[in-house]
Amino acid sequence: MPADLPAPPLRLSIDPAALTANWRALDRLSGAARAGAAVKADAYGLGARRVARILLEAGCEDFFVAHWSEAADLLGTIAPQRIAVLHGPLNASDAAYARDTALRPVINSLHQARLWQEAGGGLCHLMVDTGINRLGLPLDDLNDPAIAGLQVDLLLSHLASADEASAQNARQCARWNAARGTVTHARASLANSAGITLGPDYHGDLTRPGIALYGGVPCAALVPHIRQVARPEAQLIQIRELQVGDSVGYNATFTASAPMRVGIVSLGYADGYLRCWSGKGAMLADGARLPVLGHISMDMTVIDLAAAPELGEGDWIALDYALPAAAAASGLSQYELLTALGRRFAR
Ligand SMILES: *Cc1c(COP(=O)(O)O)cnc(C)c1O
Repeated sequence: MPADLPAPPLRLSIDPAALTANWRALDRLSGAARAGAAVKADAYGLGARRVARILLEAGCEDFFVAHWSEAADLLGTIAPQRIAVLHGPLNASDAAYARDTALRPVINSLHQARLWQEAGGGLCHLMVDTGINRLGLPLDDLNDPAIAGLQVDLLLSHLASADEASAQNARQCARWNAARGTVTHARASLANSAGITLGPDYHGDLTRPGIALYGGVPCAALVPHIRQVARPEAQLIQIRELQVGDSVGYNATFTASAPMRVGIVSLGYADGYLRCWSGKGAMLADGARLPVLGHISMDMTVIDLAAAPELGEGDWIALDYALPAAAAASGLSQYELLTALGRRFAR
């Protein structure tokens, strides 16, 4: 028998109770609308299949991914009709794949509407652009015969500035309502996580939270409702004693001014712990804060162990990943903090 493959020195645990509570809170805040879930980008890095299983259990019925490959990963977990593919079909073979699998394409242009009809059509979603100028049809295109022929389940649009008190929100809402009056559809959807807090005018039949499900807090109104879900941890792989004048890491950006005990953590920018944390991040062990020293390397980060002298090689250290505070400290967005976490984490 060959020896077992050693377990990875990185793990990303998620708290199923917090994820469930976040979805329930967002569903409740969505009023008469139901909450769905954006699970694109591997559920923001947390692992789409396990997140989907937990959310299904919580009562979620509508899931959103960006790519066909992301939908394919979920086919054994979620019924295909419940998976919306936001980028839609780019060509005839994408449309044929959607037809074969019964996945629900989001139609974003007249071109995609025609592709879908030529492939045989059937229920689809329709994205209308109300001002973000990303994907979606302009209102002027909605009277085109290619749209009249669609069987639209969800008529959706996406808010650009839901996380701020911006006049753009009401403008987008008005355009979305105009689209609802123009296109025959079964259900309508506008709000992402932050959009849910803008009130019933923004709710329609279905909301599409993403970041807040996973513990992100995109606006102050969500603070009391959202719990931390993702807890990344890394193992200490070596302990060193520094003497006065010893420097740490590439370019020697930290130099010890007193003898100190430091730990080498198996975590680097290749794992999504980016160089913006150099010299300012901290890790946590039983409540003690362990500051990052010097530059982050590709596979390693050095931390000061003064506040946790009992730690030794092999012990696990938590990243300080309370998302709003971590975003403020790092300059990364809460979205980037989650989606950057790399493939070397055991999930
Ligand atoms: C990503 C995405 C969402 C979720 O947005 P959050 O800000 O993470 O809540 C909703 N709708 C669409 C179209 C998206 O692309």
